[in-house]
Amino acid sequence: MGCLFCNIVEGKVPAKLAYENEHVLAFHDIRPMAPTHVLVIPRKHIVGIGEATEEDVNVLGQVMLAGRHVAETLKLEDGYRLVVNNGENAGQSVFHLHLHVLGGRPLAWPPG
Ligand code: 5GP
Repeated sequence: MGCLFCNIVEGKVPAKLAYENEHVLAFHDIRPMAPTHVLVIPRKHIVGIGEATEEDVNVLGQVMLAGRHVAETLKLEDGYRLVVNNGENAGQSVFHLHLHVLGGRPLAWPPG
């Protein structure tokens, strides 16, 4: 078993990749909430933003820039949203830090 997203990093669970580099992996969400819904994750296992430390500053920046890169590559030129859920009340269901990249339709604000 172990961490689902670590298994995706290790190629043990398949995912439709959108981007990867030495720090991060980006893949399409299995239950998309928008026409484009990609998850960007650090290769390193970090439980959530609440557990990240100063040591993770570079990889957190890499995650954000990869989110922008994915949005540009997938041509979300009308706008997109980058979201990190932290903890159960925020809707975090996978406890390996991930950035949602959402776009392709108008997005309501505030989220529910
Ligand atoms: P969270 O709710 O933790 O912020 O986001 C977790 C996301 O992971 C959800 O949007 C969910 O659909 C997605 N997800 C869960 N399991 C899998 C999987 O096996 N493959 C992919 N590609 N996405 C998954």
